[in-house]
Amino acid sequence: MTQDKIRLTSICLREIELPLIEPFRTATGIVDRRRIILAELREEDGVTAWTECVAEAVPSYTSETVDGAWQALSGWIIPLVLEKTFGHPTDVHAALASWVPDHPMARASIEMGTWALAATRREESLARFLSRSSHLGVSPRKSVATGIAIGMHSDNGKLLDRIETAISEGYRRIKLKVSPQSEMQTIRDVRSAIGTTTKLSVDANGSFSIDDENHLRFLEKLDSLGLAMIEQPLGEEKFEQHAELQRALRTSICLDESISSDASAERMVRLQSGRIVNMKPGRVGGFTEAVAIHDRCRLAEIPLWCGGMLESGIGRAYNVALASLPNFTLPGDISPSSRYWVRDVITEPWQMDSDGMVTVPVERSGIGVEVDRDFVDQILVREATFRS
Ligand code: MG
Repeated sequence: MTQDKIRLTSICLREIELPLIEPFRTATGIVDRRRIILAELREEDGVTAWTECVAEAVPSYTSETVDGAWQALSGWIIPLVLEKTFGHPTDVHAALASWVPDHPMARASIEMGTWALAATRREESLARFLSRSSHLGVSPRKSVATGIAIGMHSDNGKLLDRIETAISEGYRRIKLKVSPQSEMQTIRDVRSAIGTTTKLSVDANGSFSIDDENHLRFLEKLDSLGLAMIEQPLGEEKFEQHAELQRALRTSICLDESISSDASAERMVRLQSGRIVNMKPGRVGGFTEAVAIHDRCRLAEIPLWCGGMLESGIGRAYNVALASLPNFTLPGDISPSSRYWVRDVITEPWQMDSDGMVTVPVERSGIGVEVDRDFVDQILVREATFRS
């Protein structure tokens, strides 16, 4: 394990504002830029790795935010890892999880960066290093299938046009955001427009309750549409209720927000709360937990897919590496750079081929992408360097 020793001498945090191609509406207004924290980790021998924190500007997906993560990183997480020697990236995870139990996205940015550092020092790809760390002992896949999430549109025609374009671009799976207030007819229209070759799924972000008769009726209607999955219909703590709902539905339930750790994955498996997991490494505190959940779900025959958090090309590199593990058998939110960004922060943007596949850089060392440092400087909002 000595080869994977981690000893960080400095970490530079940078917040950038990355312009979006398509502005989107949030509870507080229109957003046309994604606020992102990037971290550059450096070791004594000059080996570096760039990494990204997936926390969003506002606490809508989870309670973490860009400002909270910046505070957690600079105040607690970075001082805890600088100038300490760790035998392996999993030791970084163990230390951070015990010292800073909250802030999984902030912790994950540093923990995942140490996986990239260790891979870089071994002169192998992050994908290969991760696959050897899985107990399943397999090679990473060379390309990963890509799906797309599309927001509900007030204009049905525009929504169907958007979906038609996505299918022609090659996306393997279309996902719609739904809530108890969604128009069932719109979902039916999408279902019939898509046909049977492209998978359709819905994501409710926990907006339904099994104690509400109207919600149950809505879910029954969804169940008749032959969807690939219904993602997180109920609240994140509702493991028993998800199990009850799964017994009543033919459609597979996918858990997203509920899976915050390997312990929660164990609970899901034990209670049979669903049949699919949406894995976001930032949500579970990094790759140590992500690989443990991957291995557990593989043994339980629960497939995974890699969710997206509107990452830049740097965060995407980590998702691509993770999604190359064998139990990621469903299309992930691993869109090409051009889906979101006017210009990405890496020198060679991520591309998707016409079959909806993104190539895993298995032969390049580390994360496999070069950071466009000039562009990072152009969109820089704040910067702070921490040294031991
Ligand atoms: Mg989701």
